[in-house]
Amino acid sequence: MGKIYLDNAATTPLRKEVIHTMLEVLEQDFGNPSSTHSFGRSAKTIIESARKTIAHYLNCSSQEIIFTSNATEATNWILSELIKNHNIKRIVTSKLEHHATLYTCQKLAKEYQIELEYIPVLPSGNLDLNYLENTLEKSIKTVVSLMHVNNEIGTQLDIEKVNLLCKKNQVLFHCDTVQTMGKLKIDLQQTALDFAVASAHKFHGPKGIGFAYINKNISLQPLLVGGEQEKGLRAGTEATHQIAGMAKAFELAHIELDEHKKYISEIKNYCVSELEQSFEGIRINGEDTFYNILNINLPFSEDKTAMLLFHLDLKGIAVSRGSACQSGSPKPSHVLAEFLSHEELKKPSIRISFSHFNTKEDIDGFINALKSI
Ligand code: PLP
Repeated sequence: MGKIYLDNAATTPLRKEVIHTMLEVLEQDFGNPSSTHSFGRSAKTIIESARKTIAHYLNCSSQEIIFTSNATEATNWILSELIKNHNIKRIVTSKLEHHATLYTCQKLAKEYQIELEYIPVLPSGNLDLNYLENTLEKSIKTVVSLMHVNNEIGTQLDIEKVNLLCKKNQVLFHCDTVQTMGKLKIDLQQTALDFAVASAHKFHGPKGIGFAYINKNISLQPLLVGGEQEKGLRAGTEATHQIAGMAKAFELAHIELDEHKKYISEIKNYCVSELEQSFEGIRINGEDTFYNILNINLPFSEDKTAMLLFHLDLKGIAVSRGSACQSGSPKPSHVLAEFLSHEELKKPSIRISFSHFNTKEDIDGFINALKSI
């Protein structure tokens, strides 16, 4: 049996068209985009056209897109800047965030002695937005930092609602859109976020490149100084081929978005029904989850729990841990620990995440492997 990749929330395989675009740029457009001669101008044109492509699909202005090396960098920059130079005194976030957000918030709260408030998590794995509504009424200069879709369990945030609450209370909203960029249509005119972040490798683009969306009404100090690249906000010679690859991946993702969404949803539904037929007592972690992420709690005994991922890996199947026991770590997932009971946490949870490259045969292979453990 060949290998089966079901870990697309961690990263995605590059699309052939993306590799092709990148190779073309590597071969033909090696000029430094800051050079004024034709080689440089050609590379610069590629970068600006990539920026326009991304802005087009997000319905924002291209000046609002700043290329970064990934979403972690963008999140670190945005949140640090707000605390350092925008007089923010409180961050409202949740314990379900990716560590890129969680650790940044904790570091900033400690360094600048600002308030750090966590929105309570409901038993469904969703956030208590009533709590958010109430707490935003306090008159303290605040930024809200919440993810659009949770990368471990796939729960979805109503960003329109959160955005309206933030606007009503004149609070800034930083949204970690890493799991939804290229997978959902995000219209930044309709949902006027203040900040959003993305990593290209989550939508079949290259690693080492991402972007920050910074609403044009907000000005941030540079992330890196030492050059005029990215409007002087992130100095350093641009990775032209990666930027071009990201824009190509973003464009293809949007052209095929509806088709892929439908296809991947079918694959996920098939996986759920096959799992339910094969394993009595199986539970899905999180309610109303995103179409490409499935987190399950398996009714396995403790001896089967240990080394579960290891056994799947031996069979060539890549999924991800949802709880820790089976990957050798003593700590449970920080996300599951927020809403599962102690008993549930003892059982193995795994995250299966799909892409349009997956087939029903992949699911059959995965379930057969799981049955044989
Ligand atoms: N936010 C979310 C929701 C993620 O899933 C990830 C990556 O797993 C990140 C942030 C960080 O992305 P990167 O490591 O590409 O910076």
